[in-house]
Amino acid sequence: MRSFQVCDCGAPLRLNEGPTPQPVGSQVLLKVLAAGVCHSDIHLNDGYFDLGGGKKLSLAERGMKLPLTLGHENVGEVVALGPSAQGVKVGARMLAQPWIGCGTCEVCRRGEENLCRAMRSLGVFSDGGYADYLVVPHPRYLIDIGDLPPEGAAPLACSGVTTYGALKKVPTLKSEPTVIIGAGGLGLMCLALHQAMGGHSAIVVDIDPVKCAAALKGGAKAVVDGRAPDAAQQIVAMTNGGAWGVIDFVGSSASARLGVDSLIKGGKYVIVGLYGGEVTLSLPPIPMRALTIQGSYVGSLSETRELLELVRAKGLPAIPLRTRPLEDVNAVLDDMRAGRIVGRVVLTPG
Ligand SMILES: [Zn+2]
Ligand SMILES: [Zn+2]
Repeated sequence: MRSFQVCDCGAPLRLNEGPTPQPVGSQVLLKVLAAGVCHSDIHLNDGYFDLGGGKKLSLAERGMKLPLTLGHENVGEVVALGPSAQGVKVGARMLAQPWIGCGTCEVCRRGEENLCRAMRSLGVFSDGGYADYLVVPHPRYLIDIGDLPPEGAAPLACSGVTTYGALKKVPTLKSEPTVIIGAGGLGLMCLALHQAMGGHSAIVVDIDPVKCAAALKGGAKAVVDGRAPDAAQQIVAMTNGGAWGVIDFVGSSASARLGVDSLIKGGKYVIVGLYGGEVTLSLPPIPMRALTIQGSYVGSLSETRELLELVRAKGLPAIPLRTRPLEDVNAVLDDMRAGRIVGRVVLTPG
């Protein structure tokens, strides 16, 4: 089978060919039907996250081992089962939950595998779906997509559950406007799910007019140019004194500053994006204005299942989506680095 792998950090993914794996134990072998390309693949390809101030978070030190097949938004068809894998049938089309923990620690046992300290996530710490086949360690990580198109369902595994998990952290979702910073793949997914979840209204911030236009088309009540020096004041004016909920899908020094500055007393800033950087915040306003700052990282298996239920009830999130052949993966990553992608690109092994 073909696999596109990080062999050297920062270098293009390399095409390696090897034997198709045979599932052992509880493993399930999927033939990959669709694999979404996520912005974090760029960081995984580079091998680090930018901590700001010249500091880097090395993924090798976090347990990433090379060569590694990227791809964590996968839908595949079950083609073979290990001897103890039960509950799935050959031929079923499944979304693979990539956020897999050790399975035995307290955190995993209470169902928050996405917060495990020994994660084995597909396409991050173990081989993912930029390949013809994908091995999933246990059937419990597979969710039947039924009649949904694989390329539409694949982004639910990261983009979908990440935005769903962030939206669930905004208590005022249905009663007040929510500010969404960043109208890339995650921001547009968030906008669509915000509507599906009965959100009040959304104000979207981006620095790219093309992405702002996509957000308006996607149902945003208003868009704000993130480069405007008065961007925070614009949001405060639009929200009658400040936003109760801000979700930041950029995660840069500038976006974090904007997010916190846009809040009303009692408001909440949820940071999801991993662009990188650092901020200096005055501390007294945090208690005096009763602000909440919360990080949100992907989502749990139960959240992915909830999201699939939501999609079955309300339909797939209407985001701009394009499929490209698997072998174009490096070109897609280059387009993403250059900010040329609107919505999501999903790779399909031919
Ligand atoms: Zn992702
Ligand atoms: Zn664990």
